[in-house]
Parts: sequence; structure tokens; C-alpha cells
Amino acid sequence: MTVPKSHPRYVSLKIRDKIVDGVEKGITSLHGLTAHGRGEAFDYLLGEKTMESAKRSIEAAAALLLLAKYPVISVNGNAAALTGKELVQLSKAIPAKLEVNIFHPSKQREIKIKIHLIKNGAKEVLLPQKNCIIEHLDSNRKYVNGGILKADVVFVPLEDGDRTKALVKNGKMVIVVDLNPMSRSAQKATITIVDNIVRAVPLIIKTIRRYKNSDKNKLRNILKGYKNEKMLMETMKIINKNLIKNMPQNFP
Ligand code: ATP
Ligand code: MG
Repeated sequence: MTVPKSHPRYVSLKIRDKIVDGVEKGITSLHGLTAHGRGEAFDYLLGEKTMESAKRSIEAAAALLLLAKYPVISVNGNAAALTGKELVQLSKAIPAKLEVNIFHPSKQREIKIKIHLIKNGAKEVLLPQKNCIIEHLDSNRKYVNGGILKADVVFVPLEDGDRTKALVKNGKMVIVVDLNPMSRSAQKATITIVDNIVRAVPLIIKTIRRYKNSDKNKLRNILKGYKNEKMLMETMKIINKNLIKNMPQNFP
């Protein structure tokens, strides 16, 4: 669809086009479309911009990824459609392995996501294997590859709560991007970036490049001062403020 730039919801509609394109290419599932819709609703409530609290989470996420011994980026259908190119750039900047992991089982879709990432510059993309299983999880997402199995830090841009919980229970530190600060993933992750993935990933790349040659102690101090619950609370306060600001005036 051609959206005129003057349209007040231009950016949001362009992002929608990307996710629809993902479905048409067989990268994103139909369920992914509805998950995106839930994200859009929260983005609206947050004012569709990166909040200060999200910037703090991004700093902490960059520090953790640079300090990690074995960082892995887990990619699902929505993340690939919205930020495939940027996730490849991020994997090179850290550096970290890319591993496909989707909720709704489909070998074909896993392969299409892999091809999409390779077209966007990835050299290697891991796919789940039936003999590689993480504990504490029943869904299709329990199947992983050597990457996630071995990882100490997993960056899972869009995650569901069960898997976030399972990854943490498996002793991993988990970074998620989720527009809903109330979701189980947001609440269970080690670091939650409450922002749209399309805004968050380029900012993480920028921050990684800025901190790349920093002293390890500086990175450790960033992490020490970071409190995930505080960021979640600040985000909820912003939602509350935006709701109050937009309440109809002169209502009896
Ligand atoms: P949970 O299982 O963690 O309680 P959920 O069931 O709502 O949460 P899913 O349906 O697995 O989660 O995934 C949808 C989540 O992804 C929603 O919380 C939504 O806010 C978030 N989301 C969707 N699109 C985006 C986006 N573009 N950027 C960031 N977050 C997004
Ligand atoms: Mg869920």
C-alpha cells in the first residue's frame, strides 16, 4: 500500500506493511500479526517514542551483551520481518550467533527465516534441532541449537513469557524487547527494553558500537546500577500519565 508521508500514522502503517510482507513471504505466522497488534496498542499508550527508561535498559543490554562469554540472538518471525537486517548488523557488532526459534512449529518457516537473514548479510544462522532441548518448557520453542543451549546471555527481541521463564531457569540471562511492561516476558527477563523493536534494535547497535572498546569495569558498573523493576515501574507510570492526559476534558 502507498501511504502518503503526510498521514498522521505514517510510521505505524509502514511498520504494518513490513509485518504483512513477512506473512506474504512465509517468514511471519498469522498469529504474529495479532501479536503485533497487541504491541501497537501499547506503543500508542507509550506515545510511540523511545522513553528515557528504555534508553537505560538499552545501555544495560549493550553492556551485558559485550560482557557475555557466549551471547546469542534468538530470532522469530516478527523480529525477522521487522528488523532482519538490523539483527544481522547487531550480531556482527557484538559479535553473537543468530539462532532461529519460533513458537508455531514449521520447519519451512524456520528455513525461510534463515534464508531471509542470509540475504541480509548473515554468514551463519543456526536452526533448532530435535536432539537439542532446553528444560522447563513444553512448546516447540524447547528445541534449540548449540547456540542457545550454550549461551550465557540470550537476546530474544520478541519473546513469550513461558520461554523467558524457561531460559532464566536454565541459568541464562535474558534480554527482551516488549512493548507491554505487564507481559510475563517483560516481568521475567533480566533486562526488559519496553520499546518498539524497530526503534530499539538500531539504538542497541549504536550503543554497542559506542561501548565496544570500553573498559570492562565501566560496563560492569552500568549493569550494577541497573534495576529492571524500576524501569518497568517508570514505564507503567508513563502509560498512566498518557491515559490521564488524553482523558476527555469537561466530562461531567
Ligand atoms: P507473555 O506470554 O509474555 O505474557 P504475550 O502472550 O502477550 O506475553 P506474545 O503473544 O507471545 O506475548 O507476544 C506478543 C508480545 O510482543 C506482546 O506483549 C506485544 O506487546 C509485544 N510486541 C509485539 N510487537 C512488538 C514490537 N514491534 N515491538 C516490541 N514489542 C512488540
Ligand atoms: Mg505468550
